Amino acid sequence: MTFSTITLSSSRRRLVIIVLGLLLAFGIVLGQSATPAHANGAWGGYSNGNIPLSKMIAVPNGHLRIDAAAGYGSMNAAFKKRFGYELGITEAYRSYGTQVKIWNARYVAHSKKVKNSIEYKGKYWTKKKNVSVAAVPGTSIHGWGLAVDLNSHVNESGSIQKRWADKYGPSYGWYPVGNSFGEAWHFEFTPPKKTTTKK
Ligand SMILES: [Zn+2]
Repeated sequence: MTFSTITLSSSRRRLVIIVLGLLLAFGIVLGQSATPAHANGAWGGYSNGNIPLSKMIAVPNGHLRIDAAAGYGSMNAAFKKRFGYELGITEAYRSYGTQVKIWNARYVAHSKKVKNSIEYKGKYWTKKKNVSVAAVPGTSIHGWGLAVDLNSHVNESGSIQKRWADKYGPSYGWYPVGNSFGEAWHFEFTPPKKTTTKK
């Protein structure tokens, strides 16, 4: 191999890397604009439950998207001021693999359609008795790093902590969505509307 062919191939390789980099950057930008970061949806070009932890922020017992973590931080500060202790998290981001485990533990597969069954992977699933509902793998809001399961008595319906969280959570972007399916502890993040105006 002569010196000139080495130079040619390495410069070509460099060009290929630059083009790939530009395509990737462009794709990420397009991906984000196609899916506005309002609520509960895909972001950053990742699939549900397959988000690198490095793209999120660590919170107690897990990770959340950056804005969701910031909202939790503010909510936690207010909670601590009111109750004198931290607002605990049981679980935040959940990987696809974990969601599959939870699903398989709570639901039973049938080969034919039965009453109240949910279709998933070509089978019909019904929930076991006395277990909480679970989202079909790939659809949990935990898989986007935009849901938390809270403790510190927020997980107890009717407690003052739960009433406080339901009332004030939304001002930090955290909504008590779990109330609609019997999970007092489950909150989902929607970025609060910006109230500041540029002059
Ligand atoms: Zn949850």
